[in-house]
Amino acid sequence: MSVSQGQQAKKIKKTRTTPFVVVIDPGHGGKDTGQERGAKGRMHEKDLNLVISKYIGVYLQKNINDVKVLYTREDDSTVSLDERVDFANQQDADLFLSVHCNSLPMDHYKGTEIHIQIKEGDSFKLAKLLNSELKDRARRPNRGIRSVQERGYNLQVLKYTQMPAVLVECGFMTNQQEEKYLNSKFGQEIVASAIYRATKEFILSTPSVEKTKTESVYKVQLASSKEKLDLNTEPYVHIKDKIELYYDENNGPYKYRYLIGTATEMTVARTILKKAKESGFPKASIVAMNQKDRNTELSPDYTHKHWAIQVMAGANRISLHDKAFKALQSEVEVMEKEGLYKYIVGRSYKKEEVVKLLKKVKKQEGFKKAFLVEVDAEDIVAVE
Ligand SMILES: [Zn+2]
Repeated sequence: MSVSQGQQAKKIKKTRTTPFVVVIDPGHGGKDTGQERGAKGRMHEKDLNLVISKYIGVYLQKNINDVKVLYTREDDSTVSLDERVDFANQQDADLFLSVHCNSLPMDHYKGTEIHIQIKEGDSFKLAKLLNSELKDRARRPNRGIRSVQERGYNLQVLKYTQMPAVLVECGFMTNQQEEKYLNSKFGQEIVASAIYRATKEFILSTPSVEKTKTESVYKVQLASSKEKLDLNTEPYVHIKDKIELYYDENNGPYKYRYLIGTATEMTVARTILKKAKESGFPKASIVAMNQKDRNTELSPDYTHKHWAIQVMAGANRISLHDKAFKALQSEVEVMEKEGLYKYIVGRSYKKEEVVKLLKKVKKQEGFKKAFLVEVDAEDIVAVE
């Protein structure tokens, strides 16, 4: 691809896709140290870049919905500039963010620098946001925004990436004060949060389009977590709807996602969101899910006694997809208990929810005798 084509692509990328893909590029790595540390106990540039990059990635993943964060390296490996560019282009990233720390032979130079290819379009928009966050809110010394003209040379990761791309120099390792600051957790977090805030503003100000509009439904995400949570605790017990648990490989460290409701209309989703917020989830948000995402649903862990509706029982096991269950319109599970196969629906910790469902089930032809059962944690329940 020629340079002009690359720049063209940068200019026309005006809408964001779902998810918004951010490629974070920790500069140098492995055999390429970048600027060497000034003293023992301090970090080399490659290590500083990685630490700051990871903070940025975690902040983005944690605080913005529908963002996918990818890294050109996640450890101290050697990655060429070509590989970095190719990775971002292949991933069809919406944004490329390269993180570096600066150096010059003289030690009085200090301040952040934002590098872009040209002072135009989305890259320039983000560069301005970054510059202002670092200067005005993080209060870092500032050396402004630089394009290829002002630098006098090209930066490969800015020139050949086909999406908005910026390179942030977080400060000078050759300046004693800044080196100390960049080596402190405090300094790293301040710089990373400034970069995160600017990136967030950039993402949210880019109009959203969904990649798979017709297949998507809206759901409300209550929370996401690193470890699977016990839903029999506050504030989850206040949620009247069925809480769906998803395992999402692409959600950074927060792979477990807790969602409620299904809506094809945004207005309906907003109503569900309002209820969720009132039930103790002020940070709940609307997410779009496509068919593929929905397949990753996990069944919740039932670690305590809970409730279900028994719809049928027998000594012989029948298929859960048997037409006998069709009228139920609920997922049927089978529980083996006291030598009998018991077919159940609507498992929940919330008795009132199950009672409500029972009334509906009993109206169905063939299920007039359905009744409420208690399910112990030890009972073996299977689905097909
Ligand atoms: Zn560097």
